[in-house]
Amino acid sequence: MTTYTDLNTSERILLGPGPSMVHPRVLRLMTTPLVGHLDPQFLTVMDEVQELLRFVFQTKNEFTLPISGTGTAGMEAALCNFIQPGDEVLIGVIGYFGERLCNIAERYGAIVRRVDKSWGENFSPEEIEAELKKKPAKLVGLVHAETSTGALQPMDEIGAIVHRYGGLLVLDCVTSLGGLPVKIDEWDVDIAYSGSQKCLSCPPGLAPITISERAREVMHERKTPVANWYLDLSLLDNYWGEERTYHHTAPITMIYALREGLRLVYEEGLEARFARHQRHAEILWEGLEGMDLTMHVPVEYRLPTLSTPRIPEGVDDLAIRKQLLNEYNIEIAGGFGKLAGKVWRIGLMGYSSRVENVTLLLAALEELLG
Ligand SMILES: *Cc1c(COP(=O)(O)O)cnc(C)c1O
Repeated sequence: MTTYTDLNTSERILLGPGPSMVHPRVLRLMTTPLVGHLDPQFLTVMDEVQELLRFVFQTKNEFTLPISGTGTAGMEAALCNFIQPGDEVLIGVIGYFGERLCNIAERYGAIVRRVDKSWGENFSPEEIEAELKKKPAKLVGLVHAETSTGALQPMDEIGAIVHRYGGLLVLDCVTSLGGLPVKIDEWDVDIAYSGSQKCLSCPPGLAPITISERAREVMHERKTPVANWYLDLSLLDNYWGEERTYHHTAPITMIYALREGLRLVYEEGLEARFARHQRHAEILWEGLEGMDLTMHVPVEYRLPTLSTPRIPEGVDDLAIRKQLLNEYNIEIAGGFGKLAGKVWRIGLMGYSSRVENVTLLLAALEELLG
């Protein structure tokens, strides 16, 4: 008879593009006994999670909740609820996740117009405006923090431009929420989503999403039913809103986890948290540059949460990553798509963003490359 041993995975130091390390307080909370998903005590937990999500998204949007599923479920919900077949959608592609936005939008029948820039760059407001001038779009999709390249998309003026041309703005905040400023109301973003396992120090499994009143109206005016029943936000609204109508069983334990992850953000304070992410990223960059590694993204729009040093000439990408994992218990990732074999991707997100992790990684790399 086959025997199955106790699960015995290593305690890794997760410095890749996600999942990042789960805060011990979150892990502890995940052993809390379950209550029912319509238990009055759970309803209070749901309310608190929504309040805390509004806090990290920096928004007053009433429609703010965690979708059951990973970041990609948030991505899909952000598109399928607003797209009707034949709608014009404009997607800015500066890396892999922009490509995924195009792919999903096409599957829901959108006419997708994609604008590409090279992997590692971002768009200026003028470039977005020029595209909309050529032809308006019902939806404009951008990635705030492109995890495949390490580039930040500045958002200061883009919301106003998209609205001037009558569109809705969708923003992927998976690698930014909880790690760098995400100002949904100030930037006038209509639909934004994230994931629990990047900068929020939780396991993968939930996708926070927030929807503006403008977007909510568009959603309610649609003529055809949303092609995805599970991610139909108006049905989810009936569960998370006043009615509390059963839609699907909420992943109770994950909601507990998210509440604790968000409570940690609240206790630390947004400014202090962003400063911590920035500080540790700067220590990493300085250390890498000290070893003659160059960074792929210019410092002006380099993500503090995901760094992409170029792999030096003659260095075996895979061998180094294997050694980091096997000898130091450290996970980092390689580049992929257009950056495969060219960069490493080093994440410093949430609980992973600690000085001891940076110091250990730098020491290990020094030994392996030296
Ligand atoms: C990780 C990531 C996603 C996808 O999230 P999953 O949790 O893997 O489904 C989407 N967009 C960006 C920018 C990401 O980094």
